[in-house]
Amino acid sequence: MNIKIGFGYDVHRLAKGRKLYLGGVEIPHPSGLAGHSDGDCLIHAIIDSLLGALGEGDIGRLFPDSELEFKGIRSTELLKTVMARLRRRKVKVLNVDSVIVAQAPRFAPYIGKIKDVLSPILNISIDNIGIKAKTNEGLGLVGREKAVACWAVALVGKKEGKKA
Ligand code: MG
Repeated sequence: MNIKIGFGYDVHRLAKGRKLYLGGVEIPHPSGLAGHSDGDCLIHAIIDSLLGALGEGDIGRLFPDSELEFKGIRSTELLKTVMARLRRRKVKVLNVDSVIVAQAPRFAPYIGKIKDVLSPILNISIDNIGIKAKTNEGLGLVGREKAVACWAVALVGKKEGKKA
C-alpha cells in the first residue's frame, strides 16, 4: 500500500451570537466561530490534512470564500465533498489525529460526540480518530477566548497498482 501523511491547521475567531460548531457538533456557548462557512476549524484542519496528503492545495482553493454557494455551509458537507474526491482516487483514510486549542468552552466533554459524527464521514472507526482538547494557558488570542485553533494530521493509503 502507498501511504501518505498530510498536515492541517486552522484558526477562527469567536464571535458573539453565532452558533458554535466544532467537529460537526453544535456546542452550547454564547459565541461561535466566525467564518464564511459554519467556521468549524477542526473540520477545516482535517480537510487540509487530507488535501495535503493528496498533494492538492488547501480548503480555500477548493471552496473559495468568495463563492455564495459555500456561505453558511456546514463543514461536514465540505468534508463529505473532500472524501468523495479521495474515493475517486481510490484513496482511503487510515487514521486522523488532531488537537483543539481553546480557552473556552472546554471541548473535552464533546470529544466522544465529535468522533461519532466524523467516523462515518471519514469511513474509519472511532479508535482511528484522535482528538485532544487543551487550553492555551491563557496566552495570546486563544488564551483570551478570542479564537479557537486546531491542528490535524491524516494518514491515507492507496493499494499499489490502482491508478489515481
Ligand atoms: Mg477555516
